Amino acid sequence: MDCLFCKIIAGEVPAEVVREGERTLAFRDINPQAPVHVLVVPKDHHENFAALSADPEALAELAAEAGRVAEDEGVAGTGYRVIFNTGAGAGQTVFHVHAHVLGGRGLNWPPG
Ligand code: AMP
Ligand code: ZN
Repeated sequence: MDCLFCKIIAGEVPAEVVREGERTLAFRDINPQAPVHVLVVPKDHHENFAALSADPEALAELAAEAGRVAEDEGVAGTGYRVIFNTGAGAGQTVFHVHAHVLGGRGLNWPPG
């Protein structure tokens, strides 16, 4: 399968990894939208949030890792956002589910 994030997980495409769990990998977004912008992905390929939801343990592990990234990056106290863009209409461009962990600046609501 031609999946960019599977290639990052396999080490075939370089990435700046910040955390690795048994079933997850967290690495910096190549085009950061905030001072802290980390992507957390399950090592197993799931296309999107809905598909990941069918595996509650994997979803829980991804959520826990996103929280640990926020702590490690120093934004847990000031506030951060965890986002799953789901579907092309919501801006999903890589169809291997990923949580964006964003923080380190003020984040407006509603999001764009
Ligand atoms: P989304 O638009 O929600 O599917 O998010 C995909 C994200 O992947 C974007 O924020 C991109 O900047 C990011 N991205 C694309 N290629 C890479 C890469 N090689 N390494 C790290 N992040 C990437
Ligand atoms: Zn994949």
